[in-house]
Amino acid sequence: TIGMIALDADGNLSGACTTSGMAFKMHGRLGDSPIIGAGLYVDNEIGAATATGHGEEVIRISGSHLVVELMRQGKSPQKACEEAVLRVVKLMKNRNKDLKDIQVGFIALNKKGDYGSYCVQSGFNYAVYDDTGNKLINPEFYLK
Ligand code: ASP
Repeated sequence: TIGMIALDADGNLSGACTTSGMAFKMHGRLGDSPIIGAGLYVDNEIGAATATGHGEEVIRISGSHLVVELMRQGKSPQKACEEAVLRVVKLMKNRNKDLKDIQVGFIALNKKGDYGSYCVQSGFNYAVYDDTGNKLINPEFYLK
């Protein structure tokens, strides 16, 4: 997935995402990217979030919507992403699934321009453009 979330000069949030599809996917599979609330969610009062990785796991927790709702409750974008990934981890463990078999990552941005990210395991990075220029960031991850 390529997910993009943005805050413009007027303070408006927006977002978009694409999907790689998923190798060897079932015929007709959609994944999380085209489902608002799963692969992408933007609430212009609160923040925006987008996901990458195994869409089935993201859909299970309505991932991007969850991240935005956690920000609504006062969590930072970083904490919100961490909590959503921990939710994925919990559901994987409940089903005795091996975390090494999946990747799920979120990035999030709030109305103030704070951003954060977290993922199950290393393997993706993201770019930030702000007043200080361009940066490439490797997110923190759960599975060390
Ligand atoms: N999230 C996408 C899907 O499950 C895969 C990806 O491109 O990361 O369809």
